[in-house]
Amino acid sequence: MKLDIIRMTLGPMPNNVYLLGDHDSGRAVVIDPSFGGASVLVRAKAQGWNLGGIWLTHGHFDHIAGAGEIAQSTHPPLPVGLHPADLAWYTKDGGASQFGMSIPPLPEVTLAFEAGMRLGLDAGLPAVVEVRLAPGHSAGHVMFYVESLGALLCGDVIFRQGIGRTDLAGGDMGTLLESIRTQVFSLPDETRLLPGHGPETTVGFERENNPFL
Ligand SMILES: [Zn+2]
Ligand SMILES: [Zn+2]
Repeated sequence: MKLDIIRMTLGPMPNNVYLLGDHDSGRAVVIDPSFGGASVLVRAKAQGWNLGGIWLTHGHFDHIAGAGEIAQSTHPPLPVGLHPADLAWYTKDGGASQFGMSIPPLPEVTLAFEAGMRLGLDAGLPAVVEVRLAPGHSAGHVMFYVESLGALLCGDVIFRQGIGRTDLAGGDMGTLLESIRTQVFSLPDETRLLPGHGPETTVGFERENNPFL
């Protein structure tokens, strides 16, 4: 197995969209497809990767807007994973209308994430990722830990010298800080943090420099 993570920055928010792929098997998943699903498909194809699923850290519209276009690129549509506690967002267009936005129709969620779940890049492939539940920005926010790469895809939980907003439905500051302490800062200092917005950082850098913690 030869895993690799590719980042694309897409959409008006702007969002980091990640492809996690394996150069040996040619399988990959897309994490948090924002606006511009077609460009994710082009990029995966250029890598020689076939997509095995769509994994969502949470249900906010800017992290899911491209899911429909990507899911429908295969027959049957690609599986879509989300924690059930974020379905309230997902089934209301990810809250797009609250922000005066609209997003394309969303595919059905077919995979219910839960804390500690281990995921492979496609059905029958060995697990490469651990699901970490980290509520506080939203009630069902999850992160994807790729231990073999020393990388955590952390969505809107923590950013370089920032944290996710907690003023939207399901958000709670105390819960978010607790999630960061127990689910992010419990990882080794050199662990790469790959967030939903902005530049990547590390656990050690944030432990020292994040003003919210
Ligand atoms: Zn969010
Ligand atoms: Zn976001």
